[in-house]
Amino acid sequence: MSDETPLPAPHESDPEETLEEKREAALRAGLEAYELTEEDLATLTDDYQDTQERLPIIAIVGRPNVGKSTLVNRIIGKRLAVVEDTPGVTRDRVTYPAEWAGVDFLLMDTGGWERNVTGLDLSVAQAAEAAIDMADAIIFVVDATVGATSSDEHVVRLLRKAQKPVVLCANKVDGPQGELEAAALWNLGLGEPYPVSALHGRGTGDLLDAAINALPEELEDEVIDEGAPRRVALVGRPNVGKSSLLNQLAGSNRVVVNEVAGTTRDPVDEIVEIGGRNWTLVDTAGIRRRVHQTSGADFYASLRTGAAIERAEVALVLIDGSVPLTEQDTRVIGQVVEAGRALVLVVNKWDLVGEDERFLLERSIEQDLVRLPWAPRVNLSAKTGWHTNRLLPALDLALSSWDQRISTGKLNAFLGELVAEHPHPVRGGRQPKILFATQAATRPPRFVIFASMFLDPQYRRFIERRLREKFGFEGTPIQVSVRVREKRGKKR
Ligand code: GDP
Ligand code: GDP
Repeated sequence: MSDETPLPAPHESDPEETLEEKREAALRAGLEAYELTEEDLATLTDDYQDTQERLPIIAIVGRPNVGKSTLVNRIIGKRLAVVEDTPGVTRDRVTYPAEWAGVDFLLMDTGGWERNVTGLDLSVAQAAEAAIDMADAIIFVVDATVGATSSDEHVVRLLRKAQKPVVLCANKVDGPQGELEAAALWNLGLGEPYPVSALHGRGTGDLLDAAINALPEELEDEVIDEGAPRRVALVGRPNVGKSSLLNQLAGSNRVVVNEVAGTTRDPVDEIVEIGGRNWTLVDTAGIRRRVHQTSGADFYASLRTGAAIERAEVALVLIDGSVPLTEQDTRVIGQVVEAGRALVLVVNKWDLVGEDERFLLERSIEQDLVRLPWAPRVNLSAKTGWHTNRLLPALDLALSSWDQRISTGKLNAFLGELVAEHPHPVRGGRQPKILFATQAATRPPRFVIFASMFLDPQYRRFIERRLREKFGFEGTPIQVSVRVREKRGKKR
């Protein structure tokens, strides 16, 4: 069973503890009547860990007009990845959940964005480079009716250098007569060209089979080594002060460690000592590159941001305190929450905020971020270094919340009490009954509630709010999902 607290000796029984136990027992008593699988019941034990691995990423790469967006649409089956022709449109969504032959993966689209950009070769290479960086396997798309161009050759060189699995897609082979042109692409030296018509769907099955097969068995960065420096991403829209903060942190604190096992996996990362401990700052190369000065930067920056967040455990999201919050700021915050990473908000450029404005600024930030009351906030100045020492406790707090596990006993005692005080509203004459709950995962904390019917979203949010009040979780998103289990013997 599940209790970490030993039974109290009879003479000193703690009233609160016995109450908890009673409540938990009562909650469990009703379970017999429900159709619960072995796996459902296994979740009740405290050492249960629902391993939620990251999904593999397959990136679609190629020069403009070869049919990348068409292929993405074909694969995800919807017109989500709109073939976008409006210049200047920032597409922040670059990966789409997809599935093939029972394998779930993320499909990454680099199509469309380079139309905003003037220096064509450079931009294709930039997009390709970022995509290759992030991906576990790459589908390289070439227009078979045109053949390999110098632009294509450029990407091929990047692909070779990266040494990641590549599947060659010879697109626009709309009929058998195009197969010969496709075969000519053997010359690229990337192995078998798969003849495909993204437009009509011809050959995409074989292409996807090959791409899935090419995925490595073990995904990079999947395991977080215990004891390795924790991984921090510095993110935020261009000009909020990321490189300034990096310099401030690294300037005095940089540690030159590179080959220590389990420290850096990637030369773009840097190890920095903060508060006597080592931390891995991910993608410092991307920050130093100052991408905001190049054209097409929004999309590129967005790609980089996504990649950095994915690879980090905790994100420091910088916002510029001297100007109002922008949509781009909230989008970055949203990316962190969606990725399930711990989060610390950094309000930078505090030196530009006058004494008398500070109170109002705090208020307006709070209003702008009402949905994020749980994120610790640090006001600082990357330029002067003022308050940068406050980052350390905020990082520690956010990460400990991210790691936190609530025992099944405690969780159910808490829920029992909550349900007794505030039962779920009756819906259509019936009342959803909560059977039990378990914390299925940490990093971020994920709770699964087994119930007799679906719970109203308001009630789920209420539970989340109470979970935070009771157990903290400052600095981490938490997820609550509901699984419905029917009463035994009920007709389906
Ligand atoms: P991207 O710039 O690489 O994303 O290319 P798009 O997906 O926007 O496609 C460029 C053009 O090629 C569009 O006009 C598509 O309709 C067309 N196209 C894409 N795939 C095929 C295909 O398999 N066959 C033919 N004939 N045209 C295609
Ligand atoms: P990034 O694009 O997010 O890396 O931003 P940068 O670090 O390049 O900073 C953008 C601009 O803001 C530069 O001119 C910095 O000098 C300035 N800046 C960054 N942090 C501060 C700060 O704390 N106070 C002030 N006054 N300026 C800052």
